[in-house]
Amino acid sequence: MSSPWHRGHRLRLSLLLVLTSCGLGVTWWMAAGTGDGSSQLAWLEAAVTAVLVAAIAETLWLLAGHRAVTRRKRTLAVRVAAATARIDRIPAASRPAAGAVCTAERMTRYHRGDCPLVGRKPVVWSSVEESRSAGRRPCGICDP
Ligand SMILES: [Zn+2]
Repeated sequence: MSSPWHRGHRLRLSLLLVLTSCGLGVTWWMAAGTGDGSSQLAWLEAAVTAVLVAAIAETLWLLAGHRAVTRRKRTLAVRVAAATARIDRIPAASRPAAGAVCTAERMTRYHRGDCPLVGRKPVVWSSVEESRSAGRRPCGICDP
């Protein structure tokens, strides 16, 4: 799945972190060039401000990611509910038994029903023991 942050988020974060780094560099340079304590204190305050800007930028970046993940979770919940409704319409006699695995013609491995390698292929359901005795091995992707 792709990153929850889009390019604009990454660009803004990068820009603010670069600005913060530059600000810290400048404040260090200016504070190091003087022996005056009050002048150094002013540059220290500027450095703290730069760090606060970085903290705010990172917080906003994390909140954007959190919002994106929350949106994806809601979308996924709707899709799961729709899929569950479709499964409920399948007659109970044609549903696989609990713990059943599936395979398709010319497959050498057995899979869980939701394995992406099975996709929409016509499958045959059986138990793990039956699949093993037929010479099939477990799928390395879905790990049935
Ligand atoms: Zn699989």
